Amino acid sequence: MNSSRKMCSVIYKKQMLPDSFELGPIRPPSEAYSLLIRVTRNCPWNRCKFCHTYKGKKFELRSVEEIKQDILTAKAIQDKLKEISWKSGNGGRVKEVAGTILNSPPNEAYFNVALWLYAGGENAFLQDANSLIMRTNELVKVIKFLKQTLPSITRVTCYGRSKTAAKKKLAELVQLRQAGLSRLHIGLESGYDPLLQFMDKGVTAAEHIAGGKKIVKSGISLCEYVVLGLGGKKMWQEHATQTARVLNQIDPDFIRVRTLTIKQGMPLYDEVKIGNFIRATDEEIIEEEKLLIEHLDCHAYFVSDHLTNLLQEIEGKLPEDKEKMLASIARFQSLSLEEKHNFKVGRRVGMYNQLDDLYNLHKHSTVEHAIKKLSNDGNQVDEETIYGLMERFI
Ligand code: SF4
Repeated sequence: MNSSRKMCSVIYKKQMLPDSFELGPIRPPSEAYSLLIRVTRNCPWNRCKFCHTYKGKKFELRSVEEIKQDILTAKAIQDKLKEISWKSGNGGRVKEVAGTILNSPPNEAYFNVALWLYAGGENAFLQDANSLIMRTNELVKVIKFLKQTLPSITRVTCYGRSKTAAKKKLAELVQLRQAGLSRLHIGLESGYDPLLQFMDKGVTAAEHIAGGKKIVKSGISLCEYVVLGLGGKKMWQEHATQTARVLNQIDPDFIRVRTLTIKQGMPLYDEVKIGNFIRATDEEIIEEEKLLIEHLDCHAYFVSDHLTNLLQEIEGKLPEDKEKMLASIARFQSLSLEEKHNFKVGRRVGMYNQLDDLYNLHKHSTVEHAIKKLSNDGNQVDEETIYGLMERFI
């Protein structure tokens, strides 16, 4: 530890007060460094079969006053870190102090503020699952207060449901954009109606299109999330082609994919047990992703940054990078059976990030050892074990 950091650490221990504010359980991967402000609790729908995050928890709106108090507490923590920075000779720059706090935060709120400041203090994410459901005038008040109180924030985003967006007037979405709502993250999941119905998503493809188009028209940046593998072995083709059809009509700014991962506590876990849903393998899901990309005819930036995705390197701007993305898929599909298996296991044990890692001899032999340990015959890890490894990622 350098002397400046040591000084920060000493002053921080002396000065620390137990400020805290409420935090929800999740945020999108792209909001990992955002300040998290919880404006609602849990999910107002809470019925999707593939989701466990808020199961058993009741949805609640929070009052504007309560949320404002949390924002003031976040500011108080920020001010405290600035003060420590001055006292430790860092001239009010908080990055050094934030780094120290991240090593031993007194609570989650400190950790979140420190991480946010460490990354520049520009982004905020409003939790939980559907913040758009707040009354528009109240959400506007919250966003304005947040930006006034913490003026370094230039980008504010939240999750929303297509159905909620479809119900809002265009003028309300415009009002939210003008207040400072920069981006909405929407769980499209699929554009295939029978699958949306089976999964109890509570929204139709037509509602996805209506909500998505309204968001685009309002000028709020739109990120649509798709679940790869959601169609299982039965509906994968329709899932891919109909999802592409819906996305083409919406033409969002971003399409983000994540891969279906099932664990106990999700209703889908029970559907698998009784044979109502048959999971696709990684190879089948890659074929589905290929079909999806082939059918996309829009201008979105396609992102695969979720840890559950087999090929995180599939990324690019549509339509110009389509061939490049399909080439990554073709590269995986042209591997020998043995190398495909090695890559699958390597991804699921966290050894590989991209296909090129197959050529790292150390990593490759570590994965070979893992295969020997995890398989019954020393050669092949079964799908159930691979699914089990994936559960750690959610
Ligand atoms: S709407 Fe989102 S958070 Fe709510 S149950 Fe469905 S997937 Fe989960």
